[in-house]
Amino acid sequence: MKPNFKQTVTNWGNFPVVVKEMKSEDSLDKIKKFVKNRNEVIARGNGRCYGDASLSENIFSTKRLNKFISFDRLNGILECESGVLLSEILKVIVQQGYFLYVTPGTKFISVGGAIASDIHGKNHHAEGCFSEYIIEFTLLNEHGEVLKCSRSENADKFWSTIGGMGLTGIILSAKFKLKNIETAYIRQESIKAENLDEIFTLFEESENWTYNVAWIDCLQKGDQIGRSILMRGEHAFLHQIPAKLNDKPLRLKAKSIPTIPFYFPNFILNNLTVKLFNFFYYKKQTQKVVKNFVDYESFFYPLDIVNDWNKIYGKSGFIQYQMVIPKSRGKEGMRKILETIALSGNGSFLAVLKLFGKNNAEAYNSFPIEGYTLALDFKVNSQLKSLVEKLDQIVEEFGGRIYLTKDSMSKSSLTNYLQNVQNPKFVSLQHKRIISNQ
Ligand SMILES: Cc1cc2nc3c(=O)[nH]c(=O)nc-3n(C[C@H](O)[C@H](O)[C@H](O)COP(=O)(O)OP(=O)(O)OC[C@H]3O[C@@H](n4cnc5c(N)ncnc54)[C@H](O)[C@@H]3O)c2cc1C
Repeated sequence: MKPNFKQTVTNWGNFPVVVKEMKSEDSLDKIKKFVKNRNEVIARGNGRCYGDASLSENIFSTKRLNKFISFDRLNGILECESGVLLSEILKVIVQQGYFLYVTPGTKFISVGGAIASDIHGKNHHAEGCFSEYIIEFTLLNEHGEVLKCSRSENADKFWSTIGGMGLTGIILSAKFKLKNIETAYIRQESIKAENLDEIFTLFEESENWTYNVAWIDCLQKGDQIGRSILMRGEHAFLHQIPAKLNDKPLRLKAKSIPTIPFYFPNFILNNLTVKLFNFFYYKKQTQKVVKNFVDYESFFYPLDIVNDWNKIYGKSGFIQYQMVIPKSRGKEGMRKILETIALSGNGSFLAVLKLFGKNNAEAYNSFPIEGYTLALDFKVNSQLKSLVEKLDQIVEEFGGRIYLTKDSMSKSSLTNYLQNVQNPKFVSLQHKRIISNQ
């Protein structure tokens, strides 16, 4: 075995930070050799999972698997290597009148990461997960074989790899369907909700909208618990957009993106600053309902307007806690979770509520089940572990589960929906932690 070139690696939450071997190759022979010569390997895309899912003793970075393979413009089918980022794909396809069927809240993730986490967007209730649109992918397995996987070929590997968190091998390339659009704009309605009852009613009334998401002020208590703003949207048709956008409806003006230059000192982000942020965010919208047209970047990727925004949480990092509670008990469960957070005083800048539709039973490793899902960012501090334990207990009590791609400290009983991925070669620090926890 060659000497390791270790480096400091961490994912989006900057927690945990590890020193491990990380390498990227672009030729199949070299990738095979890398895998063969190591006992434990995991693939890493762009490290946008928050915790320890794409960390291992030896990390294979797909950064150099960054080539487009084909684009069938007539039928909207794209094939590319697994390290290609969604941001690169959007640059090519939007101008051609196409969009991704499913996209997360950042465009800076790789295609391999999208499959391995079987990502969902604001449209799960209407259009499901990323896997719904995959035609096939190629997978390098533990024996050094490259398997073509689809619903009809190596179907067992196809389904275990979807949502399989990299534990079945390295996805090398993928072919998937795209969605037709007429413009790069979204017809959006933002509606303020005073409390949890109102936001749940709004979600139910909005089920026929393709995209729904709510920002929640998670520090409110009593009658105002669940105070929030629902954003619902549809891809705008050409005849709907204002005349000033009509000229080049599929092209957006380039925007300059500022960068957070350094880690913020720990004292800057505290309960008071989170309270102030939440207050101003809610009050910024003065009317109950605002209807407008926004470009797709603002609608889908509001956080991408600042590079390295994760540094505002300071050097100790942060976690994202995302759970789903079955629909029938959704409101009750969310109330208990929000009460627990408000009492703990551990505020979350970002608290996002979404509705999941029915899950695809074949994609058994996918996180979504029909219900409400809440994602919360928490700065890592000495009280966080005990808050996570309390939240885990509530999620368990309500029959929910935790999203593996965000997890870095949850109980194994909430993550054990992951099946058929035991593998001596492809091992992540997350999976080891979960197994040892059992
Ligand atoms: C701001 C922000 C918003 C987000 N919003 C959402 C959201 O709305 N919905 C959602 O579902 N997710 C969301 N995420 C999470 C993100 O979409 C997933 O974590 C995604 O998997 C990250 O992809 P990546 O390329 O960065 O992969 P990494 O973070 O590097 O890895 C993630 C997982 O994929 C595996 N993996 C990566 N590449 C491969 C490969 N080629 N072969 C095999 N396995 C591989 C890794 O082993 C790991 O288990 C968000 C993340 C951020 C930072």
